Amino acid sequence: MSRLATGLHRLRRSSSSPWEVLWSALASCGLVIFSQLAVAMVPRLFPSLSLLAMLPIAGLVFLAAIVLGRLWRRFIGVAASAPLFVLFNILLLWGVYVFVIRRDTSSLLDMLLNAECALLLWGLYRILSGDPGIVACDSSYLEEAGCKDFVEAIYPSEKLPMLSRVRQCNWCKATIRGYDHHCPAFGTCIGQKNHRLFMALLTGFVVAESTYTMCSTKYITRCINSGTLRSENPVSLNLVISTMLFSILQVVWQVVFLMWHIYCICFNIKTDEWVISNFPCFGLFLHQLQVVFSLAVSCS
Ligand SMILES: [Zn+2]
Repeated sequence: MSRLATGLHRLRRSSSSPWEVLWSALASCGLVIFSQLAVAMVPRLFPSLSLLAMLPIAGLVFLAAIVLGRLWRRFIGVAASAPLFVLFNILLLWGVYVFVIRRDTSSLLDMLLNAECALLLWGLYRILSGDPGIVACDSSYLEEAGCKDFVEAIYPSEKLPMLSRVRQCNWCKATIRGYDHHCPAFGTCIGQKNHRLFMALLTGFVVAESTYTMCSTKYITRCINSGTLRSENPVSLNLVISTMLFSILQVVWQVVFLMWHIYCICFNIKTDEWVISNFPCFGLFLHQLQVVFSLAVSCS
């Protein structure tokens, strides 16, 4: 049943043609370059500001770049992919580290950052190719549940503790066991089978981006102390500062998100259930938004 369910889910995901995937990859890569270039303008436009003061400006610029990128993609009719956006950002940070920052870091930090980036890529591949806990609407599932039909199997979950927390994701149109939420960044549901991997990945992102921030700080400190700040290649220097600002911004929201998920694990809470029970209007709005988005995607 598990293999069948995974196969169905993958089939649904891989319904795009190779050309659409290629255009999507190019659009995602272009969005990464555009957003990083936009953030790189912050230290150029505000050179007298401290890094701390640059952070909120960098955050706003990054958001504006993402919104502009979305509008542009909609205008030219190409859909980007959030997981590819994440992938290209990892590759960009790793590339900037290897070609610019690496010479200023210790061998221990060098080993750590390379290992963390490699693990992130492996984890991203695993979560994109894995099964979040899809429940197939076939007879074996009904037999397992001891139910006559699928509706009976899913909705009265209080009567069937083993089937509790089975929810349908409106983004994926898939029914997921132990559904927590749909992760837009990874483009997949987070359910019973991939929740641990999701937590490991989230922690990995926080650790890797913190390590990257440490390494880039060392590079900038070395430039300031040695008086070579002005003689450094301006493209490299701005790229280091912009990726460092980007990493700090990412760490800030990811730490909050990670704390939330640790809280959920401690108190046996699922994000989707918590949103619907505490903010029913927001939950309804979110579900309607997901339905509209799904319709827009299926019609495009
Ligand atoms: Zn989903």
